[in-house]
Amino acid sequence: MTKQLPAGSVIGILGGGQLGRMLSVAASRLGYRTHIFEPSAGAPAAQVADQLTTAPYEDKDALTAFANSVDVITYEFENIPTAALDVLEKLRPIHPDRRALAVSQDRLAEKQYLQSIGLSVAPYAEVNFVDDLQAAMAEIGVPSILKTRRFGYDGKGQVRLNTDSDPETAFTELAGAPAVLEGFIEFEREISVIGTRAADGQVACFDPGENVHLDGILHTTTVPAQISGRQRMDAVLLASQILTSLQYVGVMGVELFVTKSGLIINEIAPRVHNSGHWTQQGCTIDQFEQHIRAIAGWSLGDGQRFADIEMLNLIGDDVDKLTDLAATPHTSIHMYGKAAVRAGRKMGHVNRVTSVR
Ligand code: AMP
Repeated sequence: MTKQLPAGSVIGILGGGQLGRMLSVAASRLGYRTHIFEPSAGAPAAQVADQLTTAPYEDKDALTAFANSVDVITYEFENIPTAALDVLEKLRPIHPDRRALAVSQDRLAEKQYLQSIGLSVAPYAEVNFVDDLQAAMAEIGVPSILKTRRFGYDGKGQVRLNTDSDPETAFTELAGAPAVLEGFIEFEREISVIGTRAADGQVACFDPGENVHLDGILHTTTVPAQISGRQRMDAVLLASQILTSLQYVGVMGVELFVTKSGLIINEIAPRVHNSGHWTQQGCTIDQFEQHIRAIAGWSLGDGQRFADIEMLNLIGDDVDKLTDLAATPHTSIHMYGKAAVRAGRKMGHVNRVTSVR
């Protein structure tokens, strides 16, 4: 039996965005305090956390003081510099651990790992030089997508290639960063599974949600996804397989393409995930509480879905719709406390309950 973190313990969270904010609220409800580490000013999570360290990830003294002030460390984004992890790891446990981060920080390592445990990914080829891209285009074909191995999110660090694309131009667009060329998948729909593994090995997955992206950014997640019972079972089983094989602790988002010939994994995220926000109104225990439970050594909660939900992201000017949305029946508003509205910036989301079971 894993030891449960005592009440009043402090959970350190790397990253002060909306995910850190909602993790902090969940931690508080379970009787914990939180300390946010975030390089930039005005972090949404800082508004609801107990402590804040504003320092760059290169500041070893700040990292040391942060680690010494907390009982366990988690994070809301996967691109934490390795040198920062080296400092933190010596002082406090980090969940999910380094292995999960190493696999998910690098698209190539991720695809190789998933294949090594027998799961399907899009056809891909490693691209380090422009000549590799020429060879990869010949091997994988077009249409295809060139993606940087690291630091890509919300469709950033990607270039689509078709028959008349020039490899040199595409490679330059990504500033010559190490990349992978991925075959374009003709998917029927995109779904994701939010899964959790507790320290004692218990695994629980939320019902898969169906995702629609606009301009590479998640627009809506709808549950239930329009998939068969078999596809639902396959999706949950493969997410469980990833969690178990990594001996993972915490919540993971697994993004999948549904195709005629089966499920293909797009990517995994070692953290709570935008496509899991529907769980706040659809389940007794949402993804944020599930994550805190896992990293604090609790047993997992009941994540069974009791409602049909449509989650809508409020991006940039979408906040202008807030007054109308607030007056819409069965609609729950979640704002992130970001003062400046910018195009493409996630400002909040709403969960609309479309039916209760
Ligand atoms: P990513 O940042 O890799 O999750 O990509 C963002 C979005 O681009 C995905 O959710 C898909 O809609 C689309 N996409 C990415 N990779 C592929 C692919 N290999 N085939 C088809 N669509 C893709």
